Amino acid sequence: MNLLDELNDPQRQACLNTDGPLLVLAGAGSGKTRTLTYRIAHLIQEKGVHPGQILAFTFTNKAAREMKTRISSLVGPDSRFMWIGTFHSVAVRILRENIQHLGYDDRFVVYDTDDTKALIRDIVRELNWDEKEWPASLFLNAISKAKNRFIAPDQWEDHSYFGDRVQDVYRRYQKRLKGLNALDFDDLIFQSVALLEGQAEVRQHYQSRFRHVLVDEYQDTNLAQYKLVRLLVGPTGNICAVGDDDQSIYGWRGADMRNILEFQRDFPGATVVRLEENYRSTQVILDAANAVVKNNRDRLGKELWTSKGTGDQIRLYRAPEEESEAWYAAEVIHEAVRRGRKLSDCAILYRTNAQSRAFEMAMARAGITYRLVGGKRFYERKEVKDVLAYLRVVFNPADDLSLLRVINYPRRGIGDVAQRRLRDYALEEGVPLVQALGQADAIEGLSAQARRAARELWELLGRFRADTGASLADRVRYIAETSGIMLQLRQERTREADDRLENIGELISEAKRFEEEQGTPDLGEFLGWVALVSDWDETDEDGGGVWLMTVHSAKGLEFPLVIVAGLEEGVFPHMRSLDEGTVEEERRLMYVALTRAEEELYLTYAETRTMLGRTTANPMSRFVREIPEELVGRGQRIAAVDRATSGASHRIEGLAPGQKVRHPRFGWGTIVAMRGSGDETEVTIAFPGGGVRSFLAKFAQLIGEDAELGGA
Ligand code: ATP
Ligand code: MG
Repeated sequence: MNLLDELNDPQRQACLNTDGPLLVLAGAGSGKTRTLTYRIAHLIQEKGVHPGQILAFTFTNKAAREMKTRISSLVGPDSRFMWIGTFHSVAVRILRENIQHLGYDDRFVVYDTDDTKALIRDIVRELNWDEKEWPASLFLNAISKAKNRFIAPDQWEDHSYFGDRVQDVYRRYQKRLKGLNALDFDDLIFQSVALLEGQAEVRQHYQSRFRHVLVDEYQDTNLAQYKLVRLLVGPTGNICAVGDDDQSIYGWRGADMRNILEFQRDFPGATVVRLEENYRSTQVILDAANAVVKNNRDRLGKELWTSKGTGDQIRLYRAPEEESEAWYAAEVIHEAVRRGRKLSDCAILYRTNAQSRAFEMAMARAGITYRLVGGKRFYERKEVKDVLAYLRVVFNPADDLSLLRVINYPRRGIGDVAQRRLRDYALEEGVPLVQALGQADAIEGLSAQARRAARELWELLGRFRADTGASLADRVRYIAETSGIMLQLRQERTREADDRLENIGELISEAKRFEEEQGTPDLGEFLGWVALVSDWDETDEDGGGVWLMTVHSAKGLEFPLVIVAGLEEGVFPHMRSLDEGTVEEERRLMYVALTRAEEELYLTYAETRTMLGRTTANPMSRFVREIPEELVGRGQRIAAVDRATSGASHRIEGLAPGQKVRHPRFGWGTIVAMRGSGDETEVTIAFPGGGVRSFLAKFAQLIGEDAELGGA
């Protein structure tokens, strides 16, 4: 069977049209990403394009991985030569190969937000400014904005009181980064563009290498990313961009919808293909999404249709407060699972990360497994960063910021005074801090103890550098052990320390996985990869469970059942958008949310909500009012039905403290406490390995030693 038989006519046309610029402009779920994927497969299979000549940009690492897997299933193992990744990861690869042109060393490291904040704080301190008055985030935002608009410190134009200070910090910040041989996230793109603009041979090399450049989610590229794309597309003009102006939701991060609107002007002779058939959602869901987005003025305008049939009405539920809202969601999912849905078919989408807490609690209490996308990232945890600091110093000896972390953890007898002396010495001599450690004997004003400690650390780091280990994982393990980090945690003997040890274990496993997947034990590649891991990559994808995430993270995805929560004025649309007049972007966000649903769509809102310790009563979101009434039915709590039919409250009485029970997720444990009665009965269970947890008996699906206990 022909590959392209799995596409409709306009989709096929977009694949066959392989010469010159092409824009696929189409609404949600119309197969844009699918078309892009098949186009790549078609180029390789039918057009004889070598996979190494293909460069494709996706919005997340997860999307890149999926696309790679899909293509390799279509065309085989040679697909590993393709470059498919996010803007950041492609930029890192380009810089790794060429950054010496910009006066950096190719062993540069990528600093995350925590690192850059620390650096800015250090600069503010150095300037003797009040840190409360001049918080790091203030400067970071301003600097990030400047970089995305290609304003270098010297081109800074705002000379207000605040502007002058930003320029001062910006200049020092760039200088410090360069000295540390480090780049921040914005630099990755900024410097890649500078490199390609400034170095004709480098530019030509990539332009002739990549015969085809493809971009998914083109509506969300910002100026910097747009420039990068333009520089990489060679004279052949073989660019294929796909996007939807109605789904442009990153304006707040500098994304510019004009990129998509002006595609034909930027790439003359461009073909535009439109897709109108939606393969994802029922007609009811599509009608609702279309009706909402119609209220935006700033759009190209398009309609979607589906042959999937009308489908069920949308359910709207009004909760008294956010906890009941979360309960309703738990009930909806519980009930859907009873009908045969898998947990992984269900997603709860909300506007801001802070809203996740109530849902997490409700899911945990209802015994529903969930996966949270976002939150504290694995690679930002303290213990993980502690180990990474050693790895970074080993890889990039100029990284003083990481070395300071190394000096301070575990404590090695180099106190504040000694540290200051070492730093002063490094500054005077113009050498990296690590070198000062090696020359400690020659530095005045150091105690004998500090001298010895400095020398020992210097030797230790030298050993780490020399020992390349049998594998990357071995190397990471050796460093985590020998540095004393693991020993220190073992000695603490607290649960928290055990968790931390587990996380370090996880880091070692990650190193192993990295080496297997990427086929290289290179420490630098590993560090570069770690820096770009996003929330998504850390979500346990195989484990199953309901998805909890913000609407932003749900971009490009689809689920049979979707609950969109927090539909109140001030929440969604977000308060800030009301102040700043960016409600159209919020409405596009609502369009994204609604169009994630394939079959069942639930909308919820709360009459009162407590946020940041304040309780407010907000009216229902205007976006709900924009959905035609006939598409919407009232959602009902199902609890009452449950109680009548399942006899749950009766069976709950079979539970008692001291009893051994099995939980479907956590295994066998012992009931240590019970609270409440009837449907509200909460059992607290101690698990031998997994600590103590509380559940609502009704939902927990507990099994006793010889019978099912406590619920449906
Ligand atoms: P979004 O705007 O949300 O990113 P999209 O336009 O990229 O959506 P896809 O995710 O590519 O849409 O496709 C939506 C769903 O429709 C997917 O499950 C996809 O496999 C399916 N699909 C797309 N085109 C076809 C087709 N021609 N035949 C069958 N299924 C299709
Ligand atoms: Mg898509």
